[in-house]
Amino acid sequence: MDLTRYINTFGHAMHQRYGQKVHKVSINAAFTCPNRDGTKGIGGCTFCNNSSFNPNAKAALAVCEQVAAGKRIIRKRTGARKYLAYFQAYTNTYAEVSALKSLYDQALAIPDVIGLSIGTRPDCVPDKVLDLLASYRDRGFEVWLELGLQSTSDKVLRRVNRGHGFGEYVDAIQRVQQRNLQYCTHLIAGLPGESVNATANSARQVVEMGSTGLKLHPLHIVKGTQMAREWKHGEVTPMTLDEYVQVVANIVTEAPPELIFHRLTGTANKQLLLAPDWTEYKWKVLNSIYLELARRDPPQGTVLQVFAGSDTQQITSVNI
Ligand code: SF4
Repeated sequence: MDLTRYINTFGHAMHQRYGQKVHKVSINAAFTCPNRDGTKGIGGCTFCNNSSFNPNAKAALAVCEQVAAGKRIIRKRTGARKYLAYFQAYTNTYAEVSALKSLYDQALAIPDVIGLSIGTRPDCVPDKVLDLLASYRDRGFEVWLELGLQSTSDKVLRRVNRGHGFGEYVDAIQRVQQRNLQYCTHLIAGLPGESVNATANSARQVVEMGSTGLKLHPLHIVKGTQMAREWKHGEVTPMTLDEYVQVVANIVTEAPPELIFHRLTGTANKQLLLAPDWTEYKWKVLNSIYLELARRDPPQGTVLQVFAGSDTQQITSVNI
Protein backbone atom coordinates (compact mmCIF):
# COMPACT_ATOMS: atom_id res chain seq x y z
CA MET A 1 0.00 0.00 0.00
CA ASP A 2 1.67 3.21 -1.14
CA LEU A 3 -0.67 6.02 -0.10
CA THR A 4 1.69 8.63 -1.54
CA ARG A 5 0.69 7.43 -4.98
CA TYR A 6 -2.64 9.14 -4.42
CA ILE A 7 -2.11 11.55 -1.55
CA ASN A 8 0.34 14.27 -0.54
CA THR A 9 0.89 12.86 2.94
CA PHE A 10 2.72 14.71 5.68
CA GLY A 11 5.43 12.05 5.64
CA HIS A 12 5.87 12.44 1.89
CA ALA A 13 5.90 16.23 2.06
CA MET A 14 8.54 16.23 4.82
CA HIS A 15 10.66 13.73 2.91
CA GLN A 16 10.51 15.98 -0.13
CA ARG A 17 11.54 18.94 2.00
CA TYR A 18 14.32 17.32 4.07
CA GLY A 19 15.42 14.34 1.99
CA GLN A 20 14.69 11.94 4.83
CA LYS A 21 11.91 10.78 7.14
CA VAL A 22 10.63 13.32 9.64
CA HIS A 23 8.21 12.17 12.31
CA LYS A 24 6.15 13.92 14.97
CA VAL A 25 6.85 13.04 18.61
CA SER A 26 3.85 13.59 20.89
CA ILE A 27 4.26 15.66 24.02
CA ASN A 28 1.85 16.16 26.89
CA ALA A 29 3.03 19.38 28.50
CA ALA A 30 0.26 19.36 31.14
CA PHE A 31 -1.75 22.19 29.67
CA THR A 32 -5.44 22.48 30.30
CA CYS A 33 -8.07 23.96 28.04
CA PRO A 34 -10.36 27.01 28.30
CA ASN A 35 -13.29 24.75 27.51
CA ARG A 36 -12.58 22.81 30.69
CA ASP A 37 -11.39 25.34 33.22
CA GLY A 38 -14.46 27.56 33.02
CA THR A 39 -13.02 30.32 30.82
CA LYS A 40 -15.07 29.14 27.84
CA GLY A 41 -16.90 26.24 29.37
CA ILE A 42 -16.82 23.38 31.82
CA GLY A 43 -16.65 19.73 30.91
CA GLY A 44 -15.05 20.27 27.52
CA CYS A 45 -16.17 19.14 24.10
CA THR A 46 -18.66 16.31 24.45
CA PHE A 47 -16.35 13.86 22.62
CA CYS A 48 -13.16 14.76 24.49
CA ASN A 49 -11.22 12.46 26.70
CA ASN A 50 -7.61 13.42 26.06
CA SER A 51 -6.38 10.09 27.47
CA SER A 52 -7.76 8.46 24.34
CA PHE A 53 -5.61 10.57 22.01
CA ASN A 54 -2.07 10.18 23.26
CA PRO A 55 -1.86 7.53 25.95
CA ASN A 56 1.93 7.26 25.50
CA ALA A 57 2.75 10.85 26.34
CA LYS A 58 3.03 11.18 30.12
CA ALA A 59 2.57 14.69 31.46
CA ALA A 60 4.59 13.85 34.57
CA LEU A 61 7.76 13.58 32.48
CA ALA A 62 9.78 16.60 31.40
CA VAL A 63 9.57 17.61 27.74
CA CYS A 64 13.08 16.30 27.03
CA GLU A 65 12.28 12.93 28.63
CA GLN A 66 9.07 12.59 26.64
CA VAL A 67 10.85 13.43 23.40
CA ALA A 68 13.72 11.03 24.17
CA ALA A 69 11.26 8.20 24.85
CA GLY A 70 9.20 9.04 21.76
CA LYS A 71 12.29 9.22 19.55
CA ARG A 72 13.41 5.75 20.63
CA ILE A 73 10.04 4.22 19.77
CA ILE A 74 9.64 6.07 16.46
CA ARG A 75 13.20 5.44 15.34
CA LYS A 76 12.74 1.72 15.92
CA ARG A 77 9.32 1.62 14.28
CA THR A 78 9.86 3.90 11.29
CA GLY A 79 13.58 4.57 10.96
CA ALA A 80 13.00 8.34 11.21
CA ARG A 81 16.02 10.33 12.42
CA LYS A 82 14.52 13.82 12.45
CA TYR A 83 11.54 14.89 14.52
CA LEU A 84 8.99 17.57 15.14
CA ALA A 85 8.03 18.13 18.77
CA TYR A 86 4.27 17.73 18.65
CA PHE A 87 2.60 19.49 21.58
CA GLN A 88 -0.60 17.52 21.34
CA ALA A 89 -2.60 17.16 24.55
CA TYR A 90 -5.20 19.79 25.38
CA THR A 91 -4.56 23.43 24.30
CA ASN A 92 -0.85 23.97 23.78
CA THR A 93 -0.92 27.75 23.47
CA TYR A 94 -2.96 28.26 26.62
CA ALA A 95 -0.37 29.93 28.88
CA GLU A 96 1.70 33.08 29.14
CA VAL A 97 4.00 33.54 26.16
CA SER A 98 7.08 33.32 28.41
CA ALA A 99 5.95 29.91 29.67
CA LEU A 100 5.22 28.72 26.13
CA LYS A 101 8.61 29.93 24.95
CA SER A 102 10.34 28.03 27.72
CA LEU A 103 8.57 24.78 26.77
CA TYR A 104 9.06 25.18 23.02
CA ASP A 105 12.73 26.14 23.52
CA GLN A 106 13.30 22.98 25.58
CA ALA A 107 11.94 20.87 22.75
CA LEU A 108 13.93 22.65 20.05
CA ALA A 109 17.17 22.28 22.02
CA ILE A 110 16.96 18.48 21.69
CA PRO A 111 19.24 17.02 19.00
CA ASP A 112 17.41 16.02 15.81
CA VAL A 113 14.28 18.00 16.70
CA ILE A 114 13.93 20.25 13.68
CA GLY A 115 10.67 21.95 14.50
CA LEU A 116 7.36 22.20 16.25
CA SER A 117 3.79 21.19 15.68
CA ILE A 118 1.45 22.95 18.09
CA GLY A 119 -2.09 21.69 18.64
CA THR A 120 -4.55 24.30 19.82
CA ARG A 121 -7.98 25.90 19.48
CA PRO A 122 -8.69 28.77 17.08
CA ASP A 123 -9.70 31.02 19.99
CA CYS A 124 -6.35 30.53 21.76
CA VAL A 125 -3.85 32.00 19.34
CA PRO A 126 -3.19 35.60 20.37
CA ASP A 127 -0.82 37.67 18.22
CA LYS A 128 2.05 37.28 20.70
CA VAL A 129 1.91 33.50 20.36
CA LEU A 130 1.80 33.71 16.58
CA ASP A 131 4.76 36.09 16.63
CA LEU A 132 6.68 33.59 18.76
CA LEU A 133 5.94 30.77 16.32
CA ALA A 134 6.91 32.96 13.38
CA SER A 135 10.22 33.73 15.11
CA TYR A 136 11.04 30.00 15.24
CA ARG A 137 10.11 29.67 11.58
CA ASP A 138 12.38 32.63 10.77
CA ARG A 139 15.24 30.85 12.54
CA GLY A 140 14.84 27.93 10.14
CA PHE A 141 12.68 25.57 12.17
CA GLU A 142 9.78 23.69 10.63
CA VAL A 143 6.69 25.13 12.32
CA TRP A 144 3.09 23.97 12.09
CA LEU A 145 0.08 25.29 13.92
CA GLU A 146 -2.64 22.65 14.26
CA LEU A 147 -6.03 24.29 14.64
CA GLY A 148 -8.81 22.11 16.01
CA LEU A 149 -11.93 23.25 14.20
CA GLN A 150 -13.77 19.91 13.75
CA SER A 151 -16.64 21.41 11.72
CA THR A 152 -17.42 24.69 9.99
CA SER A 153 -21.03 24.53 11.22
CA ASP A 154 -21.74 26.68 14.26
CA LYS A 155 -24.80 24.57 14.97
CA VAL A 156 -22.69 21.43 15.18
CA LEU A 157 -19.96 23.17 17.20
CA ARG A 158 -22.64 24.24 19.70
CA ARG A 159 -24.07 20.72 19.75
CA VAL A 160 -20.70 19.29 20.83
CA ASN A 161 -20.09 22.13 23.32
CA ARG A 162 -17.00 23.27 21.47
CA GLY A 163 -16.98 26.69 23.12
CA HIS A 164 -16.03 28.54 19.93
CA GLY A 165 -17.59 29.04 16.54
CA PHE A 166 -16.41 29.24 12.96
CA GLY A 167 -15.88 33.00 13.36
CA GLU A 168 -12.97 32.44 15.75
CA TYR A 169 -11.33 30.19 13.17
CA VAL A 170 -11.74 32.86 10.49
CA ASP A 171 -10.16 35.45 12.77
CA ALA A 172 -7.29 33.10 13.68
CA ILE A 173 -6.37 32.13 10.14
CA GLN A 174 -6.35 35.74 8.99
CA ARG A 175 -3.67 36.48 11.59
CA VAL A 176 -1.86 33.20 10.88
CA GLN A 177 -1.80 33.97 7.17
CA GLN A 178 -0.52 37.51 7.78
CA ARG A 179 2.57 35.82 9.27
CA ASN A 180 2.78 33.18 6.53
CA LEU A 181 2.66 30.40 9.09
CA GLN A 182 1.82 26.89 7.98
CA TYR A 183 -1.32 25.57 9.58
CA CYS A 184 -3.24 22.35 9.55
CA THR A 185 -6.99 22.27 10.21
CA HIS A 186 -8.42 19.35 12.18
CA LEU A 187 -11.84 18.04 11.17
CA ILE A 188 -13.86 15.22 12.69
CA ALA A 189 -16.21 13.24 10.45
CA GLY A 190 -19.46 11.94 11.89
CA LEU A 191 -20.26 14.54 14.53
CA PRO A 192 -23.89 14.45 15.66
CA GLY A 193 -26.14 16.71 13.63
CA GLU A 194 -23.98 16.48 10.50
CA SER A 195 -24.76 14.63 7.31
CA VAL A 196 -22.30 12.04 6.07
CA ASN A 197 -20.84 14.45 3.53
CA ALA A 198 -20.69 17.48 5.81
CA THR A 199 -17.00 16.98 6.51
CA ALA A 200 -16.24 17.17 2.79
CA ASN A 201 -18.05 20.51 2.76
CA SER A 202 -16.06 21.71 5.78
CA ALA A 203 -12.86 20.61 4.05
CA ARG A 204 -13.75 22.51 0.88
CA GLN A 205 -14.42 25.61 2.91
CA VAL A 206 -11.18 25.60 4.91
CA VAL A 207 -9.04 24.71 1.89
CA GLU A 208 -10.66 27.49 -0.09
CA MET A 209 -9.68 29.81 2.76
CA GLY A 210 -6.05 28.73 2.50
CA SER A 211 -5.45 25.87 4.95
CA THR A 212 -2.06 24.37 4.11
CA GLY A 213 -2.80 21.06 5.80
CA LEU A 214 -5.73 18.87 6.83
CA LYS A 215 -6.00 16.34 9.59
CA LEU A 216 -9.03 14.07 9.42
CA HIS A 217 -10.37 11.48 11.74
CA PRO A 218 -13.68 9.77 12.40
CA LEU A 219 -15.62 10.52 15.54
CA HIS A 220 -14.56 8.17 18.34
CA ILE A 221 -16.99 7.63 21.15
CA VAL A 222 -14.91 7.01 24.23
CA LYS A 223 -15.64 6.29 27.85
CA GLY A 224 -15.88 9.13 30.30
CA THR A 225 -17.45 11.62 27.90
CA GLN A 226 -20.83 13.28 27.46
CA MET A 227 -20.89 11.77 23.96
CA ALA A 228 -20.66 8.28 25.47
CA ARG A 229 -23.80 8.97 27.50
CA GLU A 230 -25.60 10.30 24.41
CA TRP A 231 -24.54 7.23 22.42
CA LYS A 232 -25.85 4.89 25.12
CA HIS A 233 -29.21 6.69 24.89
CA GLY A 234 -29.25 6.25 21.12
CA GLU A 235 -28.75 9.96 20.43
CA VAL A 236 -25.55 9.53 18.38
CA THR A 237 -25.06 7.15 15.46
CA PRO A 238 -21.42 6.57 14.51
CA MET A 239 -20.38 6.43 10.85
CA THR A 240 -19.79 3.13 9.13
CA LEU A 241 -16.35 2.37 7.77
CA ASP A 242 -17.66 2.60 4.21
CA GLU A 243 -19.19 6.03 4.83
CA TYR A 244 -15.93 7.29 6.28
CA VAL A 245 -13.88 5.90 3.41
CA GLN A 246 -16.13 7.63 0.87
CA VAL A 247 -15.89 10.97 2.68
CA VAL A 248 -12.09 10.80 2.89
CA ALA A 249 -11.80 9.73 -0.74
CA ASN A 250 -14.03 12.64 -1.77
CA ILE A 251 -11.89 15.09 0.19
CA VAL A 252 -8.61 13.72 -1.14
CA THR A 253 -9.60 13.61 -4.77
CA GLU A 254 -10.94 17.16 -4.62
CA ALA A 255 -7.98 18.61 -2.70
CA PRO A 256 -5.34 20.73 -4.43
CA PRO A 257 -2.07 18.86 -5.02
CA GLU A 258 -0.08 21.02 -2.61
CA LEU A 259 -2.41 20.43 0.36
CA ILE A 260 -0.67 18.27 2.97
CA PHE A 261 -2.69 15.54 4.69
CA HIS A 262 -1.32 15.13 8.20
CA ARG A 263 -3.69 12.33 9.05
CA LEU A 264 -6.44 10.30 7.39
CA THR A 265 -7.72 8.45 10.40
CA GLY A 266 -7.07 8.06 14.09
CA THR A 267 -7.18 5.36 16.70
CA ALA A 268 -8.37 5.62 20.26
CA ASN A 269 -7.06 3.82 23.30
CA LYS A 270 -8.68 0.34 23.15
CA GLN A 271 -9.58 0.44 26.82
CA LEU A 272 -11.56 3.63 26.27
CA LEU A 273 -13.10 3.12 22.83
CA LEU A 274 -16.84 2.36 22.76
CA ALA A 275 -17.69 2.94 19.09
CA PRO A 276 -17.36 2.63 16.18
CA ASP A 277 -15.39 -0.58 16.58
CA TRP A 278 -13.67 -0.35 13.16
CA THR A 279 -11.71 2.72 14.29
CA GLU A 280 -9.61 0.37 16.40
CA TYR A 281 -7.96 -0.98 13.25
CA LYS A 282 -5.91 1.84 11.79
CA TRP A 283 -4.38 -0.18 8.98
CA LYS A 284 -7.71 -1.60 7.93
CA VAL A 285 -9.07 1.94 7.62
CA LEU A 286 -6.02 3.20 5.73
CA ASN A 287 -6.08 0.19 3.46
CA SER A 288 -9.77 0.72 2.70
CA ILE A 289 -9.06 4.36 1.82
CA TYR A 290 -6.18 3.28 -0.38
CA LEU A 291 -8.32 0.71 -2.20
CA GLU A 292 -11.08 3.27 -2.78
CA LEU A 293 -8.60 5.80 -4.15
CA ALA A 294 -7.08 3.10 -6.37
CA ARG A 295 -10.57 2.19 -7.61
CA ARG A 296 -11.34 5.81 -8.49
CA ASP A 297 -7.75 6.40 -9.67
CA PRO A 298 -7.54 10.15 -9.80
CA PRO A 299 -4.68 11.11 -7.50
CA GLN A 300 -5.00 14.20 -5.33
CA GLY A 301 -5.07 17.30 -7.48
CA THR A 302 -6.68 15.91 -10.59
CA VAL A 303 -10.40 16.48 -10.10
CA LEU A 304 -11.84 19.76 -11.33
CA GLN A 305 -11.50 22.50 -8.76
CA VAL A 306 -14.59 23.42 -6.83
CA PHE A 307 -12.89 24.73 -3.69
CA ALA A 308 -11.69 28.12 -4.81
CA GLY A 309 -14.78 29.18 -6.66
CA SER A 310 -12.88 28.90 -9.92
CA ASP A 311 -13.70 26.48 -12.68
CA THR A 312 -10.22 26.65 -14.13
CA GLN A 313 -8.13 25.50 -11.20
CA GLN A 314 -7.38 21.88 -10.40
CA ILE A 315 -8.46 20.53 -7.11
CA THR A 316 -8.14 17.71 -6.25
CA SER A 317 -3.78 11.17 10.65
CA VAL A 318 -2.25 8.07 12.51
CA ASN A 319 0.39 10.34 11.04
CA ILE A 320 1.07 9.46 7.47
S1 SF4 B 1 -11.12 18.55 22.45
FE1 SF4 B 1 -9.57 20.12 22.84
S2 SF4 B 1 -10.80 21.99 23.03
FE2 SF4 B 1 -12.22 20.30 23.35
S3 SF4 B 1 -12.26 20.00 25.58
FE3 SF4 B 1 -10.73 18.60 24.68
S4 SF4 B 1 -8.80 19.70 24.90
FE4 SF4 B 1 -10.44 21.21 25.11
